[in-house]
Amino acid sequence: MACTVVWFRRDLRLSDHAALSQACRRGAVLPVFVLDRDLLFHPETAVARVAFMLESLRALDAELRQRGGRLLIRSGDPAEVLLQLVRASGADGVIAHTDSERLVGRVRDARVSRALAAHRIPLHWVEPAGATGELMPYSHWSRQWHQAMASPALPAPEQLMVPAPSEALPDLPVPSLQELGLRADAKPIPTGGSAAAFQRLEQFCEGSASRSYYWELSYPSAKVTTGLSPYLKFGVITPRQCLQRLAWLLPRSSGAGGRRDPRGRSAVQLASRLRWGCAIHQRFRFLPQLELSALWSPLEGGSGASPAASGLSSDEAAGGLTAEQEELYAAWREGRTGFPIVDAAARCLQAEGGWLELNFRSRAFYASFLSNLCGIDWRFGALHYMRHLIDGDCPIDHYQWAMQAGVTYHGSKAWTRIYHPGQVAVDRCDPQGLFIRRWLPELRGLTNDQLGSPPAMADYPAPVLDYDRSRRLRLEALEQQRLHIGDVQAAMARLPQHLHPFGYERIAGCDVAWADLWANQPPSALQPSAVDLERLDPAGWKALFSWFSGTSRTNNTSRSTGAARKGNSSKASAGRSRSRRAQGSPGQLSLDLGFALDAEIG
Ligand SMILES: Cc1cc2nc3c(=O)[nH]c(=O)nc-3n(C[C@H](O)[C@H](O)[C@H](O)COP(=O)(O)OP(=O)(O)OC[C@H]3O[C@@H](n4cnc5c(N)ncnc54)[C@H](O)[C@@H]3O)c2cc1C
Repeated sequence: MACTVVWFRRDLRLSDHAALSQACRRGAVLPVFVLDRDLLFHPETAVARVAFMLESLRALDAELRQRGGRLLIRSGDPAEVLLQLVRASGADGVIAHTDSERLVGRVRDARVSRALAAHRIPLHWVEPAGATGELMPYSHWSRQWHQAMASPALPAPEQLMVPAPSEALPDLPVPSLQELGLRADAKPIPTGGSAAAFQRLEQFCEGSASRSYYWELSYPSAKVTTGLSPYLKFGVITPRQCLQRLAWLLPRSSGAGGRRDPRGRSAVQLASRLRWGCAIHQRFRFLPQLELSALWSPLEGGSGASPAASGLSSDEAAGGLTAEQEELYAAWREGRTGFPIVDAAARCLQAEGGWLELNFRSRAFYASFLSNLCGIDWRFGALHYMRHLIDGDCPIDHYQWAMQAGVTYHGSKAWTRIYHPGQVAVDRCDPQGLFIRRWLPELRGLTNDQLGSPPAMADYPAPVLDYDRSRRLRLEALEQQRLHIGDVQAAMARLPQHLHPFGYERIAGCDVAWADLWANQPPSALQPSAVDLERLDPAGWKALFSWFSGTSRTNNTSRSTGAARKGNSSKASAGRSRSRRAQGSPGQLSLDLGFALDAEIG
């Protein structure tokens, strides 16, 4: 009878699992998860996230056992482990979902593909629902994604045929963090497994959060987020499963009554967020270099200005920090900037891994403070987030960071939101001071209107920067920097020759040997392969740009931007900027340089 090794990775579930369903239809299966050193000791690994993954592996094993199966847990090089398991079980192939979350995985999967091919062992890659390897315009992808989300989720197999434990295929328990050589921090770990994920989804849909999610999303203390993010990150539940449950909440009528229905509005809002997450993953599928750099190469670096324009030393331009920036970076990480809402976010992230309480708005203003007001390269912030977030998801995290920093800006979204970290933020996001007082007990005695800018206190620091000055410097720097973009095809970041994760030199005990071995390979050599910008034809460029234009409008403006275009367009954009500024709230500023990415290409 046919036997297939099912290689579980970021898909720790039994239902809506296309690879498992296909393997079960063939006959026996050997479910395996490989604990891979390259991932466990990646500089961006958060120990608490690994702990959550281990919990989810235990839950998956238990679910498999209820169905007559088991999960084989192995440690080591996945290529060697899979070869050994195929031999020991007599399996005639391996099946797995593709995973384009990060470079380390794509290098690993390329290596595994080669190793199995060298031994003539078929390895079948299955696309997760809604994902594609084909470069297509965003609008086509979106249609395809909606169709995939509407098609039925696959049921979990009722029974599995799994080879019994033997000397060659022993049962090994899921190890502890300690056994993996990792030291736990004190973060509470969410319950792992699909049952817990569905319970969260159900709680959200049936409870009060679904009524207030739409309105209270921006309040850190509101606790209306779903808490699904760690489960989505490890594929314990799929976006399709969430969307199909949310569909029950959608307004039955599209009339005024239906549109006002609070649960319906929340469901629509949450569905959009799930789509954003999938779309960001798809962008990384095409351009994995976004893990390492901003979309536009000339915008890379720290203070916001290009090295030439800002007079940065070569050290800073290469991602180093000045002594002053090191101090700011430490204050930002440790929650001692002197801006209470920023410091509360810092402490919440370190204490709890942010998955429940650090919602989008809190992550955004905390990120904006570092990259915009401190002028520090966004990648330092993304690294810190990833080392603490229990839901840390490289594409969402890195893309959002680059967006908040204004360096991966889109044609029609050229403005950069610089959040005011003082009383404006308190009034908008935490008007009763619940979030701030929870994380900064030393400020409990202050009134709400003192929480934006506390009086001098012995046990709370003075502000580390002047908001108005820092904001002005950043906006000037960004404007200067954007003038250097020039031809957008040439400016789009390329896959570098060396794939070392940003900032790895700062992280003791990390292991980036995989990156040392992978040098000067073309984008097509990754698994899944990436778009090779050097070989892209005009139609390909057009399709690619549609992912970054933010509009489906096409026009016939020049494909380059910068000083040459500044003349007329800057007047028009100044007008637009002013009108947006007038409508916007404090801390927001439009920086529309008339950048038309969806321009006629080629
Ligand atoms: C600087 C920054 C870094 C971030 N890093 C991460 C990260 O590492 N992992 C992560 O899952 N989210 C990240 N987010 C997005 C968002 O803040 C979180 O997804 C959300 O707070 C998680 O809570 P939830 O699952 O309860 O969210 P919900 O509001 O319930 O959303 C459900 C899911 O939708 C997706 N989603 C929600 N918001 C966004 C968004 N703005 N962009 C893309 N997808 C979204 C996520 O998969 C999320 O789990 C980041 C946002 C910012 C501004």
